[in-house]
Amino acid sequence: MEHFRIVIIGGGPIGIACGLEAKKRGLSYVILEKGPIVNSLFNYPINMQFFSSSEKLEIDGIPFISKEAKPKRNEALEYYRRIVTSNELHIRLFEKVVNVEKANDIFEITSSKQTYSADKVIVATGFYDLPNTIDVPGENLPKVSHYYKDPHFYANQKLAVIGASNSAIDAALECWRKGSDVSLIIRGPEVGQRVKYWVRPDIVNRIEEGSIIAFYNSEVREIKENEIIINTPEGDLAIENDFVLALTGYMPNFEFLQHLGIELSDDEKRLPNYNPETMETNIPGLYLAGVICGGMETHKWFIENSRVHAHMILDSITEKNTTTV
Ligand SMILES: Cc1cc2nc3c(=O)[nH]c(=O)nc-3n(C[C@H](O)[C@H](O)[C@H](O)COP(=O)(O)OP(=O)(O)OC[C@H]3O[C@@H](n4cnc5c(N)ncnc54)[C@H](O)[C@@H]3O)c2cc1C
Repeated sequence: MEHFRIVIIGGGPIGIACGLEAKKRGLSYVILEKGPIVNSLFNYPINMQFFSSSEKLEIDGIPFISKEAKPKRNEALEYYRRIVTSNELHIRLFEKVVNVEKANDIFEITSSKQTYSADKVIVATGFYDLPNTIDVPGENLPKVSHYYKDPHFYANQKLAVIGASNSAIDAALECWRKGSDVSLIIRGPEVGQRVKYWVRPDIVNRIEEGSIIAFYNSEVREIKENEIIINTPEGDLAIENDFVLALTGYMPNFEFLQHLGIELSDDEKRLPNYNPETMETNIPGLYLAGVICGGMETHKWFIENSRVHAHMILDSITEKNTTTV
């Protein structure tokens, strides 16, 4: 069984930042990633633009140069990929971690390919794998997706977009501009206040001029082959429909965290138990890094403010045992 000082689960921006930090401190480590490098970013919409400016997405002070102040997905892929390749980080791709157990202060990590042992484990698995479902009949139809990729697919089609946050609004605008007939179904009374400040006026104007039809205070009740039923303040309404994008957010894999023994708060936030100064969880030697730390509050942590976790964790690991390399 291969032994590492640190096994990092997840090769997103923050898992990579942890790997870099471990390398700088001369500790043996491996990053295990179930998909390609920065798998979540790879699966973002192809034209997606970050709300952060590029310097705020930098890790370890490595300059991130982008064409515009706020980089696009493909520039971020380029940036993080170059960090991995130029620094020859130890990352094993398409290798999913399925189990972690601890015995006698040593962790045993089982992946889809092999079993490792490690003194410390960092969980940086993000929140993009599990969508918040809307739990209505028809949600499993092939015309429904919780991930949006490319507007071309929806041209000349009747598209319903469910949601009021950045992902839903970006998709609605892009698809409308490529010729979709877009309806936006919003549970609350308005477009989300956290929508990017330069995008919000655009969607509000498109709604006001009637280009995109918004149903406020409304929820989808049922999805059928050729129509959807929406519950509106005026009662139920059936509208013709070809495709549904249910972009109602994502959540961390709580089952995985609980399986590792990490305690979660009892309230709806389901916050994992960790020390905010060291990022160490209630299981000694098991750390959390990145957006996974926010539980259901997935807007709380992002790359900008969680990239510091790498430093904090490695400080904690090296302070506690400065002799082991
Ligand atoms: C559409 C969108 C736009 C965003 N825009 C911004 C922005 O502008 N600025 C900003 O700072 N943040 C932004 N965020 C938030 C932030 O970019 C992401 O959440 C970011 O990817 C978080 O990094 P992470 O490393 O914590 O998690 P992730 O990037 O999600 O990485 C987790 C990795 O773990 C892997 N993984 C999961 N489970 C396992 C397993 N069992 N075994 C092995 N690997 C596993 C996943 O494949 C994934 O690659 C955005 C998020 C979204 C969804």
